[in-house]
Amino acid sequence: MTSESTGAADGPGDTASAAAAAPQRAGLTVDLDVEICVVGAGLAGLTVALEAARAGANVVVLEGRQAGWSASGHHLGTVMPGFALPLSDLIARVGFDDACELWSLSRAGADYVRAHAAEHVISGLGLTEGVLEVSNVDAGDRLISRLQMLSEDFATEAEGWQVDRVRDTLRTGRYFHAVHYPRAFQIDGRKYVHGLAELARNAGARIFEDTPVVGIDPFGIRKRIVTPRARLRASHVVLAGNIHLGKAMQRLSDTLVPVWRHAAVTAPLGERLAEAVTFHGSVIDTDGIDHFRIVGGDRLIWASPETTWDARSEGQAAAIRRRIRTIFPQLGAVEIATMFSGAIGQTVHGMPQIGRLSPGLWVASGFGRQGLNTSAMAGQLIAGGMLEGDDRWRLFSPFELVWAGGTTGRAAGYAIGLAEQARSAAAGTLARYREQARIRARAREARFAEANRLAGTRPPRSAARRAPPDQEGA
Ligand SMILES: Cc1cc2nc3c(=O)[nH]c(=O)nc-3n(C[C@H](O)[C@H](O)[C@H](O)COP(=O)(O)OP(=O)(O)OC[C@H]3O[C@@H](n4cnc5c(N)ncnc54)[C@H](O)[C@@H]3O)c2cc1C
Repeated sequence: MTSESTGAADGPGDTASAAAAAPQRAGLTVDLDVEICVVGAGLAGLTVALEAARAGANVVVLEGRQAGWSASGHHLGTVMPGFALPLSDLIARVGFDDACELWSLSRAGADYVRAHAAEHVISGLGLTEGVLEVSNVDAGDRLISRLQMLSEDFATEAEGWQVDRVRDTLRTGRYFHAVHYPRAFQIDGRKYVHGLAELARNAGARIFEDTPVVGIDPFGIRKRIVTPRARLRASHVVLAGNIHLGKAMQRLSDTLVPVWRHAAVTAPLGERLAEAVTFHGSVIDTDGIDHFRIVGGDRLIWASPETTWDARSEGQAAAIRRRIRTIFPQLGAVEIATMFSGAIGQTVHGMPQIGRLSPGLWVASGFGRQGLNTSAMAGQLIAGGMLEGDDRWRLFSPFELVWAGGTTGRAAGYAIGLAEQARSAAAGTLARYREQARIRARAREARFAEANRLAGTRPPRSAARRAPPDQEGA
C-alpha cells in the first residue's frame, strides 16, 4: 500500500500525468505592489485568482507549499449542488427566499466546474455523470418531501429511487431509498486543481509557491503582506488558506474546526465488484459516513469517516477495509492499494465563510466536505465583489465567523460527531431490524393464509385481531 497525508499520492486519477502537469515551483523573492493578493493556492484561492485575472486585475497568489497540496489535491471529485448544511436547516436559518438564492448560487458553482471540466478547457478530467444519495434508514416519506422541494422550489433535477431499485444497483441491505442527481458528476480532482492553476497563470495571475504568508497588516488602503523573503502591498487581500492559515490571521483560523478525511483506492476487485455495484457515479450516504465510487473499471475509491486529528494512514486503511466489508461482505477481503488524505475546514454553522471582513480584506474558506461547487461559487462572488461591486456575497452575512472553540471545542466537536455517527448507525440497525420484522410477519401471514386455504377454514379470531404486518416492529 502506498500512502501520503495531504501530499502526493495516487488520488482518484492518474497521478503520474497529474504530477507531470504540475509546473515548476517558484518562490517570491522580490517585493511587489499589486492590486490583489490571494493567500492560498487551493481550489478557493485559485478560482478567485482565475476570475480576478480574467477580469483584468493584477493578481498574485502566495502559497506556503504547493498548489493543491492539501485537500484541494486529495479529494474524491464529486460535484453536487448545495452545501454541507442540510437544505431544511438552511431555510430555517435564512428563510425560504434567501435559501433559494443561496442554493442557486451553489448550483451555478457546480455548473462552473462542469464548464471548466470540458476537454478543451482542462483536459483529462474524465467527467462521469450521476450521484446517488442513499439513506441508511427507511425514510420514504422524508424522501418524497425532499424530492418535491428540490425539483419544485430549488430547480434541481432529482429522482427518487425505491429500496428495490437501490438494492438492484448496490447489492447491500444497508441502504434503503435514495435520491439520484442525474446532473451531479465527478471528475479527477487532482488534475482539476492543477488545471485551475494553469488557467489562472494563462490569464495573467502570478502564483508563487513555497511562499508562506507570515504576517498581514489589513489596515489602511494598501494592505501589507509579509513573507519570509519578500513583502507585498495590495489593495485587496483574499484569505483562502483554509485551516492552514495559522498565525497570518489566527482569529480567522480559530473559526474553523480542522477535520481530516482519508480515502483509499482498492486493488483490482475483478468481476465481484461488477456484481456488487452497478452504479458508476458517486454514492454518498445521508449521514456523511460512506462516500465511494468505482474507478479504473474494477477498483473502489472509498473515503473514511472524518477525524479531528491527522490519524495514521494504516489505521484508516483498516477502518476503510472494515467498512467496505460491512457494506459489501460479498467482496470478501479487500486489499488497499493506495491511501491519500486531506484536511478540511468545518465551520460551526456548516456554511462556508465567503465575503468581506473589512474594506479590502476578503475571506473564502470553510468549505467542509463539499468544496468543489462552493469554492467555485466563492471565487466568482469574491472576484465580482472586489472588481465589479457585486454584493451577492452578502447573502452569506448571516453566517458569521464563529469561534470554533479552540482545542477543547474541537475535541468536544469530535465527540459530538462520534455520537451522531453512533446515533445514525443505531438508526440504521433499527431500520434494518424493522425491515426484517416486516418480512418475517409477511411470511407468517402467507403461511397462515396458505394453511387456511388448504384447511378450507376461516382464520381464528385471535389472528384476525393481530396488527397488520406493516405496523409490526414500527
Ligand atoms: C478525502 C477528501 C475527499 C473529499 N471529497 C470531496 C468531494 O468529493 N467533493 C467536494 O466537493 N469536496 C470534497 N472534499 C473537500 C474539498 O477537497 C475541500 O473543501 C476543498 O479542497 C477546500 O479547498 P480550499 O482551497 O478552501 O483549501 P485547501 O485545499 O486547504 O487550500 C488552502 C491552501 O492555502 C495554503 N495556505 C494556508 N495558509 C497559508 C499561508 N499563511 N501562506 C501561504 N499559503 C497558505 C495551504 O498551503 C493550502 O495549499 C474532500 C476532502 C477530502 C480531504
